[in-house]
Amino acid sequence: MTTKADIVIIGGGMIGSAIAYFLAKSGNAGEICVIEPDPEYKLAASPVGAGGVRQLFSRPENVQMSQFSLQFYRDFATTMALDESTPADINFNQRGYLFVVTESGANQLEINHGVQSQNGVNALLLDQDELRTRFPSLGLEDIKLGCLSPDDGTITTALTLKGFRQKAEQLGVRYLPRKVVGLNKMGGAIKSVDLDSGEVVSADQFICAAGAWSKEILAMIDLPLPVVPMCRVKHYWTVDQEHSIEPLPLVKDESGLFFRPQGDGYVGGRPPFDMGSGFAHLAQNQAIRDHFNGYFDRVVRPLLSKRLPAFKTANNSQDWVGHYAQNTFDGNMILGSVGAEAENLYVACGFSGHGIMHSPAVGRAMSELILNGRFETIDLTRMSYQRITANEPFPELGII
Ligand SMILES: Cc1cc2nc3c(=O)[nH]c(=O)nc-3n(C[C@H](O)[C@H](O)[C@H](O)COP(=O)(O)OP(=O)(O)OC[C@H]3O[C@@H](n4cnc5c(N)ncnc54)[C@H](O)[C@@H]3O)c2cc1C
Repeated sequence: MTTKADIVIIGGGMIGSAIAYFLAKSGNAGEICVIEPDPEYKLAASPVGAGGVRQLFSRPENVQMSQFSLQFYRDFATTMALDESTPADINFNQRGYLFVVTESGANQLEINHGVQSQNGVNALLLDQDELRTRFPSLGLEDIKLGCLSPDDGTITTALTLKGFRQKAEQLGVRYLPRKVVGLNKMGGAIKSVDLDSGEVVSADQFICAAGAWSKEILAMIDLPLPVVPMCRVKHYWTVDQEHSIEPLPLVKDESGLFFRPQGDGYVGGRPPFDMGSGFAHLAQNQAIRDHFNGYFDRVVRPLLSKRLPAFKTANNSQDWVGHYAQNTFDGNMILGSVGAEAENLYVACGFSGHGIMHSPAVGRAMSELILNGRFETIDLTRMSYQRITANEPFPELGII
């Protein structure tokens, strides 16, 4: 059976749903169909994300996208409410972000701070003494400099994904609980997608927003994409009440360690860098399972204890595994048409750990590009797919 839409979005996680929402809100996008095989999002990255939304980037594009997203998330409860009596609460908490670096990272932190200030971010550079005064619980012996961005915040990602999807559906977007298994190309354009049910959906424009699975989608028409799944683990822990810890922002250091308050405890973690790429939680491989047994005690607790000594006796009670869609070319998102091979196929992927904080800005940007043929609010040309084929990396610098 063949059905027709105007725009097909492959993948209905936070990115696909944000794009669907902005397209539908425009009122000019016609019929939008999102193909999402996992309606409960058991494997998607979006509900697992730590929910950090920060402006602490080195590239103006990333800073400006976060500025838009922060404002969007502040207003989300009302803007995205399905009706006046039911706010779309996402637990937005303006707790701030704090990057702390050793001597070797100080210069880059200062350069990045310059970019942030030029773009109007309220970010403060703090030396070790100033950090100690503000955050007496932190272990700072090795730390030379910090950058505090008090306006940054956190959200509950599962609620935000639900909010985007429900609002998109209310605006008429159709979600099909199917998987794309083929792209049908004629000349320099995609004509339709094949679904695992045997159905075919034809459309004028196609957007690949399949997160860590995006490479599989482009491979269907033999196009390369340097995006791989990278396993990331998040933990929840509490500390004994005798420890009094001041209210903390989301803290992140150069080892990849991060943590922030959540409810009566904390969430955070440190990526299992030695695992390489691949879908860890899909694998039945005993070696991968073994790897996670005791990962918190073996790897995370020592790093946490150094950065905040009261975490030495942390009671770890919950762990989550998800996957970054890691862009191995330069670690930045890839946005836009894939070009002459298939002009009407767009990608929005490779978010490399920043897809939650950039979803609203990506949704708006992709809607502009598809409906009006260009980025109108933030020029994201440097994030194009073509930079990869031209071998012109555009990396994010400093702590990522
Ligand atoms: C532990 C962890 C912590 C994180 N913390 C943060 C954070 O603090 N801040 C931040 O900004 N980001 C964070 N991230 C990253 C963030 O979660 C991702 O960048 C973001 O969720 C990407 O959204 P997405 O929609 O691209 O991908 P996903 O949410 O993975 O959605 C992709 C969807 O594509 C679907 N799909 C796959 N194959 C097909 C197919 N063949 N056909 C149709 N659909 C298909 C999948 O079912 C999936 O639902 C974190 C990630 C992890 C794992």
